[in-house]
Amino acid sequence: REQKFPYKRVLLKVSGEALMGKGSSGVDPEMVDMVAADIAAVAAKGGQVCLVVGGGNIFRGLAAAAKGMDRVQGDYAGMLATVINALMLQNALERREIETRVMTAIRMESIAEPYIRRRAVRHMEKGRVVIFAAGTGNPFFTTDTAAALRANEMECDALFKGTQVDGVYAADPRHHPDAERYDELTYMDALARNLQVMDAAAVSLARENSLPIVVFNIHAPGAFATAMRGEGRFTRIVE
Ligand code: UDP
Repeated sequence: REQKFPYKRVLLKVSGEALMGKGSSGVDPEMVDMVAADIAAVAAKGGQVCLVVGGGNIFRGLAAAAKGMDRVQGDYAGMLATVINALMLQNALERREIETRVMTAIRMESIAEPYIRRRAVRHMEKGRVVIFAAGTGNPFFTTDTAAALRANEMECDALFKGTQVDGVYAADPRHHPDAERYDELTYMDALARNLQVMDAAAVSLARENSLPIVVFNIHAPGAFATAMRGEGRFTRIVE
């Protein structure tokens, strides 16, 4: 079959939490490798994949500010945390012989390329997995917003958001087992109901370009490839 996936080019948002494994912070190399294996399987079958990585497993500006740190300084530290995760993910992908490039929103050229949109597109056309790090490069934003921003810039067909549960629920199903689960939601619903899937800035940006958001559970091996094929359980946020 020529067209294996219903999407040609996608952006996968990998939160810091997804790389944390069973701990409450830090990086679990086994988790990183599991996520990398999933991404590698999609890339090997010709799916064009770019990634935005979070940093919440290492540092969050908001949490630091709650303990008295300057918010902006904390946010810069948070953005650097995403670079640590990006380098670990890059290495895990390279060990699986997947060509990758890390591009940072804050210049640090001894470590990674600076983000240049047209160059990122070229990398993707050549089949490389591009990892976008350092968020948007601005404090007061999140990596979810960075994900929607880069997905729009890369003209992705969808934004995949890997979470801890298999879609969007009316309430956190880990605390409310009877919470309703949605197969599909509109951007407006996601915004109006203030669902904790993605922040409003990210949903608004996606809506701007009618970029579908696919929320799925990234914790099962092969979950990303399955969601990419349109199989398994997930929630689509669309017009
Ligand atoms: N951050 C930021 N600007 C951005 C993206 C991230 O200031 O454009 C900072 C912010 O402090 C955030 C931290 O980086 O708390 C880690 O990112 P995030 O919390 O989005 O990571 P995730 O929850 O996905 O692990």
